[in-house]
Amino acid sequence: MVIAKAWALKKHFDGFPKTSDFDLKKIELPNLKDGGEQKLLLESVFLSVDPYMRPYSRRDMKEGDIMIGTQVARVVESKNPAFTVGTFVVAGSGWRTHFISDGKDLQLLPSSWPESLPKSLALGTIGMPGLTAYFGLLEVCKMKPGETVLVNAAAGAVGSVVGQLAKIGGCKVVGCAGSDDKVAYLKKIGFDEAFNYKSVKSLDEALHKASPDGYDCFFDNVGGEFASVAINHMKKYGRIAVCGAISQYNDSVPQKGPYVQLPMIFKELQMEGFLVSRWNNRREEGLQALLKWVMEGKVKCHEQVTEGFENMPMAFIRMLKGENLGKAVVKV
Ligand code: NDP
Repeated sequence: MVIAKAWALKKHFDGFPKTSDFDLKKIELPNLKDGGEQKLLLESVFLSVDPYMRPYSRRDMKEGDIMIGTQVARVVESKNPAFTVGTFVVAGSGWRTHFISDGKDLQLLPSSWPESLPKSLALGTIGMPGLTAYFGLLEVCKMKPGETVLVNAAAGAVGSVVGQLAKIGGCKVVGCAGSDDKVAYLKKIGFDEAFNYKSVKSLDEALHKASPDGYDCFFDNVGGEFASVAINHMKKYGRIAVCGAISQYNDSVPQKGPYVQLPMIFKELQMEGFLVSRWNNRREEGLQALLKWVMEGKVKCHEQVTEGFENMPMAFIRMLKGENLGKAVVKV
C-alpha cells in the first residue's frame, strides 16, 4: 500500500497567496485491480507551478480540494498494457506525489524525445507554456516576417518562448521583465530590445525608445496598467493576443481603466483572448515543432527548479512574485 502526499487548498486565497493557505495531507492509495479504473500507479517526478492556478482555484475549487496542476510522472506499477513500468507521462493529477489512473487522461511524451533532454521540459518549453507561445503567436497574433513583436513577462515560461519563436519567424522582438538579470537573459537568448519595467522612469518612453515605429503584435501576459500603456504604441491594424493578466490575479478589488476603446478604434486594432486548449487537436504538431527547435539550439530553455515536494507552496508563491527565470518547476 502506498501513502501519497498531497497539497490541499486549506483556505481560498485572499490577495497574495500565503503558505498558510495550503495543507499537506497524506492519502492512502488503493491497490491496483485488473478491471475498473485502478490500473496504474504513478509517482510524480516534476510538478508544475503556474499562474493559472491562482484564478482557477477561485473559479473551480472549494476549500479542502487538492491543488490543481500537472506533473511529469513515472509509471511504477501497471495493469494496463499500454503503459509499461518506467514509462514517463504528463498528467493533470494535481499537487500529489503519487496517484492512481486508468490511463485515459495521461499523455505520453513525444516518441522522439531524446534521452539527453530533461523530461521536466514537458511542463515548460515543450509543454503547455510552449504551446501557448506557439499558437498565440501563429494563430492569434498572426505574426509575419519583418514585423515587430512586444511581449511582457518575457523571461518567464511563455514569454521566453514567444520571443524566440518570433525571432525564428523573422520578427524584431522587444521584451520586458522585472529584473536586470532577466533583461540580461533576454538579450542573451536573442531579443533585439529588452528593458526592466520596474526600473524604467517611464514605461511610455521605454516602449517608444525600443520601437519608435510602434508594434505590429503584442503578446500580453500581464494586462492591467502595462497593457493600457502598450496599446497606445500599437501600429495601425496591430494585433493583441490577450494571453494572461497576471497583474490582476491577486487583486481583491478589481482595477479600473483607462479603457481600450479609443486606441482600438483609431488604430483599427484586433484584440483576442485565447486559451491554449483551443488547439488541443494540434498539440502533437506544436510539440514536435518545439522539440525540433530545442534540439537544433534555436530555442533555449531555462528552468527554475525547486527541490522537494514540501516546498511546492513556496515555489508557487515565488513564481507569482517574479522570482523565477524561465519555467518554475518542483522536483520531488
Ligand atoms: P511566468 O513563468 O512568466 O511567471 C510569471 C511571471 O509574471 C513572473 O515571473 C513575473 O515576471 C510576472 N509577474 C508577476 N506579477 C506581475 C505583475 N504584477 N506585473 C507584471 N508581471 C508580473 O508564467 P507563465 O509563463 O506560465 O505565464 C505567463 C502568463 O501567461 C500568465 O499570465 C498566465 O496566466 C498566462 N498563460 C495563459 C495561457 C492561456 O492559455 N491563455 C496558458 C499559459 C499561461 P517579472 O519579473 O517579469 O515581473
